[in-house]
Amino acid sequence: MPATTETRPAPSYNIAIIGSGLGGLSAAIALRRAGHHVTIYERHDFGGEVGASLSLASNGSRFLQEWAVDIPSAKPVVLRSLIMHDWSSGDVSARYPLGDYRERFGTDYNNFHRIDLHKHLKDVATAEAGQGPPAQLRVWHKAVRLDPGEGKIAFDNGAEAVHDAVVCADGIRSQMREQLGIAPQVTPSTSCCYRCIISTAKLRQLGLQEFADNSAIEFWGGKGIDKIVMSPCSNHDVVSCYCFYPAEKNNLKEDGWNISSTGENLAATFPDLDERLRLLFRAAEDIKMWRLYNHEPYPYWVSGRCCLLGDAAHPMMPDQSQGACMALEDAGALGILFSAKYAHLSIPEKLQLYELERKPRATRVQESSRRARTDITERIGWSSANDRLGKLTIEEVCGYDMHSHIAELVERFTNPSARSAANDAQQP
Ligand SMILES: Cc1cc2nc3c(=O)[nH]c(=O)nc-3n(C[C@H](O)[C@H](O)[C@H](O)COP(=O)(O)OP(=O)(O)OC[C@H]3O[C@@H](n4cnc5c(N)ncnc54)[C@H](O)[C@@H]3O)c2cc1C
Repeated sequence: MPATTETRPAPSYNIAIIGSGLGGLSAAIALRRAGHHVTIYERHDFGGEVGASLSLASNGSRFLQEWAVDIPSAKPVVLRSLIMHDWSSGDVSARYPLGDYRERFGTDYNNFHRIDLHKHLKDVATAEAGQGPPAQLRVWHKAVRLDPGEGKIAFDNGAEAVHDAVVCADGIRSQMREQLGIAPQVTPSTSCCYRCIISTAKLRQLGLQEFADNSAIEFWGGKGIDKIVMSPCSNHDVVSCYCFYPAEKNNLKEDGWNISSTGENLAATFPDLDERLRLLFRAAEDIKMWRLYNHEPYPYWVSGRCCLLGDAAHPMMPDQSQGACMALEDAGALGILFSAKYAHLSIPEKLQLYELERKPRATRVQESSRRARTDITERIGWSSANDRLGKLTIEEVCGYDMHSHIAELVERFTNPSARSAANDAQQP
């Protein structure tokens, strides 16, 4: 790498993003703002998101703020506490107030309806208004082959494209991963999950309005596989539940996260649960279930002019509520490394630094999410560094300063004397 950091005119690259999920759209926003021409290729029509909540802790929400995304337009509920209930009686057994969250971490803890956030990010990425050239969205373009050295993509509709860089944000079942030479090691989890939503109007009829009014993530269980996670979203108009249960209970064979079920099935899965929830489940809408899978961390994320991002890079259990936050962090890192400040770096150097910056942190969150699947004391908010050495804490996740971290990494890799001083400092 060159040992100089002199200011140069920032080049404007032609960058492809494969996949228009939350990760791909975030990368499009970050890169257009850095002045690049972005094309997003989506295999389907736009609109693959599902009816469920998505909480963005400050490490994700921070980038929405940085990218001037109008957060209130995506109708979040600002979370004020985490609440733990007794599994059967429903009595509140613990509360973690988030009152000073904004003061500590600089943003609110936002809880979105996934469809609201997805649509809003698409609008921000592709709107004429906004910093940098608007991203182009090409639907019905399923990428089938990728040449990582050339940045050349072939699509199932016969089209081809060549880009200066390619960001593969094609989700947990990424096919581009294999085009980068990575063979994922995947095992089915012992857990499955139902998700459902219910309108506040219906909750009111059931006498359960408090669940919509509480600006909280509420938990039942979590010491073992069984766990219910409930939260309001969409300006308190909708309440969403994730309901984890042992996979052996119904031996779900189908893949995907859109397998329909009924309220009776859902209620019957948890016979000794708080009766208020069983009542809610029977009246719930849009009840779906899906199998969960464990992915071992991949050996690398970057090859030539291409990188992985989001679930394609680091699929994780949902139990830290961090998968999308990590995708936003990935996008944030690309935005910073492709900004004018780092114009002296070549594309392969930027991508190498992207992997150095992102992989250790995302892998740590991925590993702690797996532990949190069956142990709620591993979840940030309920975890404390004092419980067990090395536990992931809310401070580590939410108080992260990526700009400084990238500046340090770039300094170390562009300045050989800083690099050898850093290496010396690491010697015993
Ligand atoms: C139960 C559950 C709850 C969760 N809750 C939270 C939470 O509260 N907070 C949080 O931060 N995270 C949460 N997550 C994680 C979060 O949902 C994911 O990490 C995030 O949605 C991943 O986004 P993505 O863009 O990487 O992938 P995806 O959303 O899967 O998007 C991939 C896109 O690529 C497209 N695509 C695929 N293949 C191709 C191809 N070959 N060519 C073109 N396009 C292609 C797909 O159609 C899709 O649009 C949760 C996850 C689960 C399962």
